[in-house]
Amino acid sequence: MTAEYRSVRGMRDLLPEETRRWRELENSVHGIMARWGYGEIRTPVFEQTELFTRSVGEDSDIVSKQMYTFQDRSKTSLTLKPELTAPVMRAYIQHRLDRMGVLTKLYYIDSLFRRERPQAGRLRQFRQFGAEAIGSPHPEQDAEIIALAFRILKELGLESLTLQISSIGSPKTRARYRDVLLRFLSDQRDKLSRTSQERLKTNPLRILDTKDPEERRILREAPSLLDYLDHEDLAHYRTVKENLTGLDIPFEEAPILVRGLDYYSRTTFEISHPELGAQNALCGGGRYDGLIQDLGGEPTPAVGFATGIERVLLALEKTTPSPAESPRDIYVVAATGTVIQAVSKLAAQLRDAGFTAQFDTLRRSLKAQMREANRLNCAHAVIIGEEELGSEQVQVKNLTTGQQLKVKMNSLVSYLANSAGPPSSSD
Ligand code: AMP
Repeated sequence: MTAEYRSVRGMRDLLPEETRRWRELENSVHGIMARWGYGEIRTPVFEQTELFTRSVGEDSDIVSKQMYTFQDRSKTSLTLKPELTAPVMRAYIQHRLDRMGVLTKLYYIDSLFRRERPQAGRLRQFRQFGAEAIGSPHPEQDAEIIALAFRILKELGLESLTLQISSIGSPKTRARYRDVLLRFLSDQRDKLSRTSQERLKTNPLRILDTKDPEERRILREAPSLLDYLDHEDLAHYRTVKENLTGLDIPFEEAPILVRGLDYYSRTTFEISHPELGAQNALCGGGRYDGLIQDLGGEPTPAVGFATGIERVLLALEKTTPSPAESPRDIYVVAATGTVIQAVSKLAAQLRDAGFTAQFDTLRRSLKAQMREANRLNCAHAVIIGEEELGSEQVQVKNLTTGQQLKVKMNSLVSYLANSAGPPSSSD
């Protein structure tokens, strides 16, 4: 077969051999979030474009280059969500979730869309899990969110994580620093790329995020934002660090982590994994005290993170081999074509009893059915023939040991339960 249609560039199908790991990861995330008291939120696939231009920032890479924007029939501009914090905050304001309590803790597992250049670990539709703690301005909350992001990755099985933290100060601090940086960079204007020259006019701080080696060299000499943090910024930052130390979360201090979005304030952080090469960032987050007000809500402090699931799975693949599935399924085999209805009925009964049971609908030979049972890594083949049907018995073959014996139909479930372990409910 040749494929006339292929998935759109940068968008991946997840096939059954992969979705098992996805489900395991998602189940772990749901479990951990519940233990930490976070409630799940699911928002629509697209939103009004303005939600993102206003929150993420007009001159951010996401808004200026990466959004999938379209007009619907009523000429409303809509955008497939390129990040998840703004939609969650929109929902928080719309549904008056502040009424749930002074502190609102939400998490999500969701897809997002960015028109980036696809490469290993960088897709145009990808998935994230993340959490947002809304309502507390205090550094304990920043530390809790960072600890949550870190603990999840640990519990998923990742070691050698690097956590970098930084503070970009309050908007007031940044406004002061912006002037200093602008003066410094204006002197070097000719050496900057066209994009950065543009950003000198619109948002000079974003230049700190540059990947251009020449610009990075220039920036090494630039005044550091950390030197401009005021007393309150510093106290906040210090307490975040103290809390992390108290929680045994190892971290490094990055000179500055601007991160892609405009709405951060004070704490920013990133978690990366060395095995991932160029795209080594697993998780990013920070505090965004101004966002809810920018979107029309009451002034409400908040802090959150987002972790890229594809990258977590890539890192897990490189570091921890996928555990082999232990055989536990049942394959019900028709010894002759005349018993196929009995086979289908028995498979249904076994499923009702909690087993995974399959049978052949291709009318294949007994030998071919046994081969299929082995290929599917089943624990047992349950074989029915005319004779067995008459005597209300079946043959049960243990596909690991090869041992075969007759079992009464009415004691089959308990026999299988005892020899194959408890019925699986995990997936
Ligand atoms: P961001 O929303 O840009 O802060 O990204 C948070 C995390 O999402 C990153 O650390 C990555 O793990 C993941 N991520 C970001 N962009 C992509 C992408 N294009 N493809 C796959 N994962 C991504």
